[in-house]
Amino acid sequence: MTIAMTIDGKSVPGAARMPVENPALGTDFAEAPDCSPAVAESALAAAVGAQPGWAGTEMARRREALLACGRVLAGHADEVAELLTREQGKPLSAARAEVGLAADWFGHTADLDLDEVDLVRDGGRRITMRRVPAGPVVAIAPANFPIILAVTKIAPAVLAGNAVVFKPSPLTPLSSLRMGELLGSVLPPGVLNTVSGGATLGRALATDPRARMISFTGSVETGISIAAGAATNLAKVLLELGGNDACVVLPDADPERVAAQVFRQAMTNSGQFCAAIKRVYVPRARERAFVEALAEAARSTAVGDGLDPATELGPVVSRPALTRLAGMVDDAVRAGAQVVTGGAPLAGPGHFYPPTIVRDLPPHTRLEDDEQFGPALPVIAYDRLAEAVDRANSTRFALGGSVWGDPRVAVEVAGALECGTVWLNTHGELRHDVPFGGLRHSGLGVEYGYWGLLEYTRIRVDHAAGLS
Ligand code: NAD
Repeated sequence: MTIAMTIDGKSVPGAARMPVENPALGTDFAEAPDCSPAVAESALAAAVGAQPGWAGTEMARRREALLACGRVLAGHADEVAELLTREQGKPLSAARAEVGLAADWFGHTADLDLDEVDLVRDGGRRITMRRVPAGPVVAIAPANFPIILAVTKIAPAVLAGNAVVFKPSPLTPLSSLRMGELLGSVLPPGVLNTVSGGATLGRALATDPRARMISFTGSVETGISIAAGAATNLAKVLLELGGNDACVVLPDADPERVAAQVFRQAMTNSGQFCAAIKRVYVPRARERAFVEALAEAARSTAVGDGLDPATELGPVVSRPALTRLAGMVDDAVRAGAQVVTGGAPLAGPGHFYPPTIVRDLPPHTRLEDDEQFGPALPVIAYDRLAEAVDRANSTRFALGGSVWGDPRVAVEVAGALECGTVWLNTHGELRHDVPFGGLRHSGLGVEYGYWGLLEYTRIRVDHAAGLS
């Protein structure tokens, strides 16, 4: 099976191919186009060509176009979801939920507006500020939530009047290419151009001077490289990068009730979620009960092929991701940590790692300081709350964090956590109407809602004098 790229409203199969693997089986099941430099060039040219016309299209028509995007995606949700499960590994129910959310996101975005504001109006003077498109936009997405993370870029970019060149991860190109075909059938030619390929293609697109904005979601390392490349053209960047979210459990929290929720928020999408809980700090007196409850949840979770309806957690997305995750747990064990349950890849062909709980982690292991991006959760006992907060704040990441327990105490602890979003007695809830973004190495700028829409614009001022 091969699905084509969509450029300037036309289907472009491309000459070269790259294999697409099913991570549950560890075997290739399809091919995707590996976009050549010449075809990448034509995608950028198409976006540049479409940009002025789309920017000049009135907002009401752009809104209608987004609603049509939502409808066409919803109408093909099962097909896109099955591709997503086969290339990414997540349970089919989760893939369907992701595609459904993405279809709805077009509608939520269509409800937004860009204001024109009179900043000065006196005598014969009028100074007006309005928002003009920042693009053409190059949008680059990761492999963990390929569909929704593409739509959270495409929808606001297009509403703001931008033409887009979109590149999904080479690990998960098929569902995105299919979505690109579907959206391309309802958008004017050149407004959305979908191409597939790896880092070389991403770099070529992101460093092209015609790309006036790069919207990227992915790892910190790639984000830094994109920011450096964009700087040579002074292109705008929006970066949603890695997270290493800490969760601080207060002494009054009920271990069993909180552990059940923490487990869900740590293991969702097999831990491959930027805002998953990636470290837990618990009071020493509660550690045993908490660890036992987490381990029990881990042992009773069904791991398997996402196409099997019994599966709760699928594989991690690739062999390198599995090897990296296993290496982080092994390093922690060598440093003195204990594996309570799990702790080694499952035998067999797919990239399966069981839900894993690790305790007695000494300071400064990779499992605490870096992002594991998989289903292994370290539980770290603390003696003083201040010590937990210090450790929570001690990494280069600052995406999200949470505090669990009495809200009166939790709110104070939450104030001391350094991150873009802090949750109290919940974690990882993202909404279309609430901005989301990381501090420090977790990113630059925000996505979602009105504030996310503004990122796809630049400010333009019109200053008129001598008006009567
Ligand atoms: P990745 O950085 O490996 O790849 C992401 C995308 O960048 C892919 O499409 C890839 O082909 C492309 N790419 C790679 N090198 C490039 C380069 N030099 N120039 C341009 N493009 C390049 O990320 P991944 O492994 O797919 O995703 C996992 C990471 O994404 C995790 O760190 C996760 O936390 C992060 N993430 C963040 C958010 C957020 O909103 N903050 C959301 C989801 C995922």
